[in-house]
Amino acid sequence: MRKVLALLALLWPVAAQAGEAEWSAPHAPYKVAGNVYAVGTEGIGVYLITTPQGHILIDGATEKGAAVVEANIAALGFKLRDIKYMVETHAHWDHVGGVARLKRDTGAVFVASEGDRYGLEHGVHVGDNIYGGGAFAPVRVDRGIGEGGTLTLGGITLTAHMTPGHTRGDTTWTTDVNDNGFVRRVIFYGSTTTAGNVLVNNPAYPDIVADYRLSFKRLKALKADILLTNHPELADIEARYQAQLHGKTDAFVDPQALPKLVMKSEADFEAELKRQQDAHKGKHP
Ligand SMILES: [Zn+2]
Repeated sequence: MRKVLALLALLWPVAAQAGEAEWSAPHAPYKVAGNVYAVGTEGIGVYLITTPQGHILIDGATEKGAAVVEANIAALGFKLRDIKYMVETHAHWDHVGGVARLKRDTGAVFVASEGDRYGLEHGVHVGDNIYGGGAFAPVRVDRGIGEGGTLTLGGITLTAHMTPGHTRGDTTWTTDVNDNGFVRRVIFYGSTTTAGNVLVNNPAYPDIVADYRLSFKRLKALKADILLTNHPELADIEARYQAQLHGKTDAFVDPQALPKLVMKSEADFEAELKRQQDAHKGKHP
């Protein structure tokens, strides 16, 4: 075990050390809006949608963080065994490292994109990344899903939008929830950061740049009242939670949050692509 941990630290020199503590640390669970709850850790967003016919869990945090997620679900008064489906935003250890344990403890059907299937079932990142493979506990995908695919349970329908690039099968999910008489469109945003991905000359993922650009195009076409991200800081989730605690009942409603994030992420992506292209030219004059 010690050998595995040492190897992980080597593979993820920055992410493993800077992120892991916060990514697995406890955070109180709370209701976001309607039947959508935040059940993740301090640094990783994990969301629960409840229905009278059972529940859906989105992502599973880190392997250590899975214990936090389970405790949070119980603290809200829900039963793990009532979770019928689990879905993911993307096959990276900080978001799905805990899925194998959560799948075992809930007995849920795990639904994931075909693009992420290999990574999930082998517990690795697919494609060249400067941080390496980022190993995590592998988990079997019970049902594959593609662009526009839907998952329905107890009157809730989740729609899958393929937003590849960050990983091959990165998935953004949308649904409508009833929040005190208002219908709110909620988006569970897959990651679009470059996060160490090799964008120039990546033989294991040659279409990576085209995929990112397709994802930005798709995300610009979506609208949402509530933006929920798997890294809370990308949508000011903690500040909104604090505002809610202080009585702002619609603290998460912000239709501008999604376009703002997409525009910033796209600009960051193009800047990083240019940086890598310039560095590549420098290497091969
Ligand atoms: Zn990621």
